[in-house]
Order: sequence, then structure tokens, then C-alpha cells
Amino acid sequence: MLDTERVPRIETGDAYRESLRGRGLDVWYMGERIAEPVDHPVIRPSVNAVAATYDLARSHPELATVVSPFTGQRVSRFLNICTSADDLVLQNKMQRKLGQLTGTCFQRCVGMDAFNALYSVTYEIDEAHGTGYHERLRAFLTRMHEGNLVVGGAMTDAKGDRSLPPHRQPEPEVFLRVTRRTAEGVHVSGAKAHQTGCVNSHWMVVMPTMRMTPDDRDFAVVGAVPVDAPGITYVYGRQSCDTRSAEPGTMDQGNAAYAGQEALVVFEDVFVPNELLFMDGETEFASMLVERFTTYHRRSYVCKTGVGDVLIGAAAQAAADNGVDGSSHVKDKLVEMTHLNETVYGAGIAASHQGRPTRSGAYLCDDMLANVCKHHVTKVPYELGRIAQDLAGGLVVTMPSELDLQHGEIGALLHRILQGRADVDTEERLRILRLIENMTLGRNAVGYLTESLHGAGSPQSQRVQIGRGMQLDLKRGLARTLAGIVDPPGEPDEAGGADDYLTRVFAAPGTVPGTMPGSAS
Ligand code: SF4
Ligand code: FE
Repeated sequence: MLDTERVPRIETGDAYRESLRGRGLDVWYMGERIAEPVDHPVIRPSVNAVAATYDLARSHPELATVVSPFTGQRVSRFLNICTSADDLVLQNKMQRKLGQLTGTCFQRCVGMDAFNALYSVTYEIDEAHGTGYHERLRAFLTRMHEGNLVVGGAMTDAKGDRSLPPHRQPEPEVFLRVTRRTAEGVHVSGAKAHQTGCVNSHWMVVMPTMRMTPDDRDFAVVGAVPVDAPGITYVYGRQSCDTRSAEPGTMDQGNAAYAGQEALVVFEDVFVPNELLFMDGETEFASMLVERFTTYHRRSYVCKTGVGDVLIGAAAQAAADNGVDGSSHVKDKLVEMTHLNETVYGAGIAASHQGRPTRSGAYLCDDMLANVCKHHVTKVPYELGRIAQDLAGGLVVTMPSELDLQHGEIGALLHRILQGRADVDTEERLRILRLIENMTLGRNAVGYLTESLHGAGSPQSQRVQIGRGMQLDLKRGLARTLAGIVDPPGEPDEAGGADDYLTRVFAAPGTVPGTMPGSAS
């Protein structure tokens, strides 16, 4: 098991890579147990993406670190509890920068958003029940800050039959749950699916994935476990074109340095001691936790605008390499890509700017704008991918392999035939096309496209939240007034609760309503 006393505080990407060695994780990939994931050619690019977060902390400490309120030392911003709207905004800026630097998912936002959601939810559970979860969480955070560690968040269960609640599933393994209790803690079993960066983390925080009823008591569990705890098995997700990472050469990979990571995590009788339990059976708080987590996480998808910057640059470079960058329709397509990308950024950063304090002091971003941000993300990267492929041309999917291009017999001929503009090196031209392939069809399409669709909830889950906040009565009142329809006395903006979206936009800044009487402001 990871000994946090033994592992020195992690300050650099290289030290982070070293910290992953020798943990004896039970990791499976393509029918084999992987002895040392950090050395596996397919896994290594995903480790590099997390390492980039440490390297950014060194090169841009103002962007990627904060001074820990627990230890007084500088720690990664991914471990920070936001206590101002500026803190939320800086998370987004860091995410965009890391998207630009890696062109992929750098995996640390789930843990960051889980900590922030749990900070306020544990506070409010304690208020309601007199439990001690919040202090436990602060003690755990202090340990994580001392080591400057990577913490993953594990929310999404395998879920089984979606029409049935957790406690009625015929196959119990599809949800993580408490299977036994002792005086020292609980034991959990079940599975978490599509877990971003789990193998690359030091610790994992498991959380319920949905609203729960009192019958789901054993499923309403939040706890921290070291990634190498006994009883955890990781089955690494296959990614499109992933085995190209194990081939000689770098060209066919498109982005040889970086990739995302998802795995299925299976828990078999995994022990969580009492001091690492942050919810245990308080089913009425499960939906609050899920909603607050998704509010943070849906605006975290600003990360994709940094990746979008890379794709826009690749599309512009491909057009220039073909000699068509002066054409008006090419410029217009790049404008279209940019405006779509900035639409996502605008919504996400606005969600952060409109953040409000919770009763715990942690700031929560705006739920409407966070959902709008993520909903754009379910569409915009696909459109950017379409335009990038349009500008790249068909060669993006028909070009020969690096081995053919380097071959003594046909390589030189291929270089001449696949020449674009005469002053552009053919290999450089093809490398840009491979990058576009990587981001729209290959390994990093996992993060840029399908994760954009389903990560932090599929499109319908955002539409439900947007629908809840759209205040149609208020808007109908506005229309009826201007149309000259005389309604009973009352301002149109009185239609709706004090915490409805448009109402609070115009109200003085207040605190996020909590669960205690009189907590709304
Ligand atoms: Fe962070 Fe984006 Fe990856 Fe989610 S998809 S962990 S928000 S980089
Ligand atoms: Fe994600």
C-alpha cells in the first residue's frame, strides 16, 4: 500500500512519475496483467499528461498552484478548495492552458471538483446530523497537501439496469456499496466505470452517482482509498489506435507524448477506515453531492477549449501547408472554429465568475452556466473536428505509415508525391495531419470527442438541469407585459423562487441555499 510517509513530497513531473513505481497495482490491459503501468508504452502518454500538471506548477506557479491553508506550502491548484470566484476562474484558466500543452485530458479535475463539492456537502451533513465528516475531510486534504498528491474522483457506477434503483439491481456488483461494517470502518464492493486517471492517481475518492432513496442506504457512501488498496482491480480501457503507442517511431501516433486514461475499477471487499469516510448512509445528501459535483465539473470542461486551440492551430497549419491559407473560405472556417471554441470558454468562465459561497465558505460556480458550458461541449468539439478534417483533406485518413515514408525503396518517392507547398517539409505536413487524425479519430478523440459527449453527464442530463432553471413563467410574464396583456398586479420577475437563475442574476450576491432552515439568502 502507498506509504505517504515514505513518498517524498512531489514537486516535479519526474518526481511524480517516480512516485507511481513499485505500487503493485492490479492493472489489466488486453488480457494481461501489467507489471509496471508507468513503463507501459500505451499507458506512459497518460502519465505524461498528469506529469504536465506538475511541470506547469513549476513554470507558472501563479496559475497552477496556491498556498495551502492547511500546510502553508504551495500546492497544486488541483488540490485547492475555492474560497472566491477568482479561485474558480483560475481553475478554468489553468485547465485551458493544460489543454493547450497536452492536447488531451490531464485527468486531475475530477478529484479537484470532488473535493470542492464534498467540502460544502460534508459541512451541511454535519449541520443536519451532528456527524464529523467535514473535519475528517479537512484532515484528509491536509495529508494530500503535505504530499502534493494526485487524487482521483470515482463517481460513475456501472449502473446495470437503468430503470432500477441500486438496491433492486439483480447484479449487485454494478453499484459500489457497503457490504460489511466493523468498529474500524466499512468494506465496499462493486464497480466504477470510465474512471479518468485512476491508475495515475495516488488516492481515489468514491462517491455515489445518483439520487438515492432510504432503501439505498448502503450505496450512499463516500470514502477515500489509496489507489493500491488491497482488493482493487483496474481494467484499462482500450482507446482507438492505442497500440500505435507501442509501435516504433512517433509520427503515426499524431501526439506521441500525451493521452488520457480511463479504466474500469472493480472493488472487492475494500476497507475504508472511519477516518476516511465522508458520507455513510445519508441518502438525502446524495443528490446534493451529485449536483454540486456536476456543477463544478461541467464548467471544468473548459479544458476542451485548450484542446480546441491545438486543433484550430493544426487546421490552420494544414491549410497553410497546402497553400490555401489565403483563401476566404478557409479563413471563415477558422473563424467559425474560434467562435465556437470561445463560446464554450465564455460559458465556463462566466459560470466561475458568477460563483457564490456555500455555507462552508467554499465557492460554488453557477449551475445554469456550468450546464450550458458542458452542453456546448457535447457538440462543439465534433463541429471543430469536422471543420479540421475538411481543411486537412482526405489525406488525413489515407496517408501512408511512417514505415513506408522512411522505407529505402519507396520513401523518397512518397515524400515527393505527398509534397504540399514547395517550402514545406513533407514530413512536417504529414505530422500535422496525423495530429488531426489523433484528435478526431485516434487516441485523443476519446478525450476530445466522446468524453466531451458523456463526461460529467451525457447531454440529456444537462438539458434536465437547464430545463429546471429556465423560468418560463417569468419569461411568459415578460412577453405578456410587452404584448399589452394585463395580468394581475405583480412584477414578472416575482415569478420564481429566490434562487432561480434569472432572479439571482439581478439580486445582490448571496450564499448558495443549504439544507438548514433559513440557510437561503
Ligand atoms: Fe479535466 Fe477535462 Fe479531463 Fe475532465 S475531461 S479530467 S475536466 S481535462
Ligand atoms: Fe472527464
